[in-house]
Amino acid sequence: MTSKIPLRVITNGIAILPDRLVPDAVVAFRGNRLVAVGRATRRIPRGAECIDARGGYVSPGFIDIHVHGGAGADFMDGTVEAVRTACRAHARHGTTTIFPTTTTGTPEQINAMLASCDAARRDPQAPGPRIAGVHLYGPYFAEDKVGCHSKAGRRPPRESEYQSYFDSGIVKIATCAAELPGAIDFYKAARRHRCLITCGHSNSSWSEMKNAFQAGMRHVDHFWCAMSSVPSIRQRFDVPMQASMAEFVLANADMSTEVIADGCHLAPELLEFAFRMKGSSRLLLVTDANRALDMPPGEYRFGPSSDGPWFRSDGKVGWAPNNSLASSIVGMDQMVRQMHRVTSATLPDVVRMASLTPAERTGIARATGSLEKGKRADLLILSKSLEVRQVFVGGREIPLSE
Ligand SMILES: [Zn+2]
Ligand SMILES: [Zn+2]
Repeated sequence: MTSKIPLRVITNGIAILPDRLVPDAVVAFRGNRLVAVGRATRRIPRGAECIDARGGYVSPGFIDIHVHGGAGADFMDGTVEAVRTACRAHARHGTTTIFPTTTTGTPEQINAMLASCDAARRDPQAPGPRIAGVHLYGPYFAEDKVGCHSKAGRRPPRESEYQSYFDSGIVKIATCAAELPGAIDFYKAARRHRCLITCGHSNSSWSEMKNAFQAGMRHVDHFWCAMSSVPSIRQRFDVPMQASMAEFVLANADMSTEVIADGCHLAPELLEFAFRMKGSSRLLLVTDANRALDMPPGEYRFGPSSDGPWFRSDGKVGWAPNNSLASSIVGMDQMVRQMHRVTSATLPDVVRMASLTPAERTGIARATGSLEKGKRADLLILSKSLEVRQVFVGGREIPLSE
């Protein structure tokens, strides 16, 4: 049976492995599986279909664990069509596995978001990235760290609310500010559901982080954005000054974090600092992209289309009305190019931060995240300047022009 499925072989490219580049590589896949990755030493079997990488790179597909929308749609719009639209947009930027991310909102809005993502991921015809789970991100934010999200939609975690989210089976990443009442019970519930547990939009102290860590928290959302610092903790507890989320992440080898490397949120020295401190196995690239991705500059809603707060896109980044940043409007390919351009991270390291590392942290690394025999054929052909040329999700090519 399997022999009837044609072997497809990518040649004339440089394969990007987690620890090295392989020049003049052969990347072969049959159906949805990678069957060989290596140097072009052996003869390509007769009957194989060849794909010419034209001297560019063959990369694992990108995995985005923090992403709100794109092409005019936000995952919180609550319709299958919105999920498909945003997913297709991110496929064009090289994302082959996606974790649609909630914002603050009512339980009805969050349930609608979970249901629409669940329906979209079951659709075998969907021409986009694989939905590996939902990132339950809002609504459990600290009041003083909501950022561009709607304040009215934030609240402390209550089991009567989040139990149904976890029971849906689709939540695989769970965020809660560590200082909120009920946070520890939330983390324990998330751990029972095998989520990557993260603390974000939080003003928590070292000791609150320590308790959270004991309950299973292992990740912090968008480092330096909407998180505590020594001065912000001093405002809560006065002297002696105490350590914050930043020190906790930097001092603890089991903690991972993520950066928004769009060139607008963080200056090059911060990207370099985060990479040097955490390394490529504990630092992730995320887009945190909103619905203004691939859209003209203008006014858009963050979160649900019905009542999400307005922000302005200037064509480079989103701005909240109070002139704070309202998340990014670019895709993962842009993050990879920026990280490669402005830091000392090698290309294998940069790509690892956008593929294998997010796969490892979310527990899907056996299935995807690197060019390895037996894994899913989630892969990209990139130009020498790292522009996305071709995208394959489970061996199926995604049309890029639409
Ligand atoms: Zn955020
Ligand atoms: Zn976000």
